[in-house]
Amino acid sequence: MNSPAPQTRKHVVIIGSGFGGLFAAQRLRKSDVDVTLIAKTTHHLFQPMLYQVATGIVAEGEIAPATRVVLRKQKNTKVIMGDVFNIDLANKTVTSRFLERITQTPYDSLIIAAGADQSYFGNDQFAEYAPGMKTIDHALELRGRILGAFEQAELSTDPDERARLLTFVVVGAGPTGVELAGQIAEMSDKTLKGAFRNIDPTEARVILLDAAPAVLPPFGPKLGEKAARRLEKLGVEVQLNAMVIDLDYDGLVVKEKDGTTRRIESQCKVWSAGVQASPLGKQLAEQSGVGLDRAGRVQVEPDLSIPGHPEVFVVGDMMAVDGVPGVAQGAIQGGRYAADAIKAELKGHTPDQRKPFSYYDKGSMATISRFSAVMQVPIPGTKKKFETEGYFAWLGWLALHLVYLVGFRNRLNTLVNWFFAFTTRGRSQLAVTEQQVYARTAIGQLSELEKKSTTQAELDAAGDGHAGDSAGRDGAGEKVDQKGVKDTSPAAEAG
Ligand SMILES: Cc1cc2nc3c(=O)[nH]c(=O)nc-3n(C[C@H](O)[C@H](O)[C@H](O)COP(=O)(O)OP(=O)(O)OC[C@H]3O[C@@H](n4cnc5c(N)ncnc54)[C@H](O)[C@@H]3O)c2cc1C
Repeated sequence: MNSPAPQTRKHVVIIGSGFGGLFAAQRLRKSDVDVTLIAKTTHHLFQPMLYQVATGIVAEGEIAPATRVVLRKQKNTKVIMGDVFNIDLANKTVTSRFLERITQTPYDSLIIAAGADQSYFGNDQFAEYAPGMKTIDHALELRGRILGAFEQAELSTDPDERARLLTFVVVGAGPTGVELAGQIAEMSDKTLKGAFRNIDPTEARVILLDAAPAVLPPFGPKLGEKAARRLEKLGVEVQLNAMVIDLDYDGLVVKEKDGTTRRIESQCKVWSAGVQASPLGKQLAEQSGVGLDRAGRVQVEPDLSIPGHPEVFVVGDMMAVDGVPGVAQGAIQGGRYAADAIKAELKGHTPDQRKPFSYYDKGSMATISRFSAVMQVPIPGTKKKFETEGYFAWLGWLALHLVYLVGFRNRLNTLVNWFFAFTTRGRSQLAVTEQQVYARTAIGQLSELEKKSTTQAELDAAGDGHAGDSAGRDGAGEKVDQKGVKDTSPAAEAG
């Protein structure tokens, strides 16, 4: 068993390597603290470009650099992989799982940036047939489903089956749905044109559905209307006021505003409607009494902390703050604010001296297709917004997304791929593997088994050595490293 080195510096634990977590960690780069970033993925994911991975424009590595490589020069920071399943506010520890390893990490300050998942509004069974668009796995699986549908249609001789295979339905007409529908239409119409012998890919139907009466509701009626018209020009069928009430392998059932229902036969469906914040928020609510909104977001204090725990911050898609949308800038600014609050404490500031978090709205954008996007930017000093759509908005989207992509090489690769895709209509990332298409069911079964194997006894074992302890104290059968991180895996116990 390792003995911990006496811990003199404050230990900041960050959960999540998305926009909130990574930018918080980077803000602490030169601070006199030790930082441990725990995330269940090895990478920092640039979600705004996931649809480009799904539709073969860019490779997954270009939008998902390895977090530990991004932070390798930041000597005060270590990255550990793990799915955090327990936050203990009283004892100031978080417990995570990676395969069979259970690791307990004590903290002095905690920044929780675990993001949000897709919400199926109580119909979680839909996920099996209509994956969301939140992770690299989702994007690769969708790429496999889209291309797989074309391949099956090429082999089919039954006209009804072919029609079903060549009908693509995107549920949710927010930015992600609009971007996906536009790209599936362009891919069918341009990239795949002439590549099959028995089917004509340009005859594929792409349907964008939403229960709401508008496309891109946050952008207002004018831009929403323009986006809808542009999509229709691309051949996308925009169906509004249409609520999905059932969904299965072969299609979905939609309820219209007047109560009538209809069925759409479609093999390839994707869900981009609604979000549900990380379930870690529920644990915080149970332990601190903090409220959650309908999407499970934590109703944080003005300084993004939770009641009675000024050392615990919740940022990004997990926080509910009036006027702050669930976008990358909200997470980046929240993560940096929390890091600054921790840095201020090192200088002797107390939590009651913190200024409330204030969000600076830099505007919003969404692409529709090649050369077409919508953009909305606040006009400084007024409550008005400058709105535009078309080519210049599209150029603005490209420039901004390049700036925020992490890593010089990723930017260069992306630029080359964009040039290729937008000038020739070709896409360099159309490979699909069997694993991408079929592995999700197996992974789902595996994680169910893993969850079952984390018994309460294991949790108690992880917690025993720590109840009431200060950071860094070790317990029997646990490895504790210099930051007080304990590994209670069987391997550690054997060692
Ligand atoms: C498809 C798509 C397109 C988008 N497009 C745009 C756009 O164009 N512009 C824009 O501004 N915003 C866009 N957004 C929204 C934006 O990406 C999010 O608001 C932002 O990523 C939120 O950052 P976050 O740090 O809160 O969460 P995330 O970026 O989601 O990061 C969460 C992190 O927490 C980790 N994690 C989760 N649970 C656990 C756990 N239990 N244990 C350990 N780690 C955990 C995850 O692995 C991940 O690293 C888009 C989102 C999606 C899904």
